[in-house]
Amino acid sequence: MSLLPCLPMSDQRSPYPALRGPVPLSHLLLRRFIQPGNRVADATCGNGKDTLLLAELVGETGHVCAFDIQQEALDRTAQRLAEQNLQQRVSLLHAGHERLLELVEPPLHAIVFNLGWLPGAPREIATCTATTLTALEASLQLLAPAGLVLITCYPGHAGGDQEAAAVQEWAAALSSRSYFVWRMGQLNVSSDAPFCLLIQDGRPADAS
Ligand code: SAM
Repeated sequence: MSLLPCLPMSDQRSPYPALRGPVPLSHLLLRRFIQPGNRVADATCGNGKDTLLLAELVGETGHVCAFDIQQEALDRTAQRLAEQNLQQRVSLLHAGHERLLELVEPPLHAIVFNLGWLPGAPREIATCTATTLTALEASLQLLAPAGLVLITCYPGHAGGDQEAAAVQEWAAALSSRSYFVWRMGQLNVSSDAPFCLLIQDGRPADAS
């Protein structure tokens, strides 16, 4: 008999979340780091799953800015938030994340990128290397001390492979004095499976 209860993959509230792929892992980290009152951004709100988690974690006094270039994605996210009555904690921005610096005030405690396309929508409308790198550079300027950037990359499709390689190369070149950079990917799956990059601002957080 298994020692662990059999849990649905989506049950990330459980003390035993199923770590199938990078997204549950990124959620685990967000649950550990995000505090009530934090200001955070979802750079690619898509279906709204990351936005919803962030809205839960920042509590009534925090705020989430969620970007997407597709109205369909913003509508799906708005619906998900409304079902939990959390819409007042989120600003939904119909804009590309390359406009982060223009549209969001620092400091942010976390910025989440889930690259690729909106499930069920045309695959041509996906994140692309140039704008992703612009947004990642902007993210570093917006981060609070000890703040996180979490990026889920999808190298298993044309375009995604080039984007994932460029993002990984960019992250690997960041100064190890200023940032702690991690790559997290499941080993016992295909070598082009999605993986997660984490960048933590190396300045110590204000402990007050
Ligand atoms: N985080 C989402 C979730 O939890 O459901 C999934 C995100 S989905 C994989 C990627 C999203 O990025 C798509 O909805 C797409 O429209 C959006 N996107 C593509 N280019 C973008 C850009 N430049 N700025 C913001 N969003 C973008």
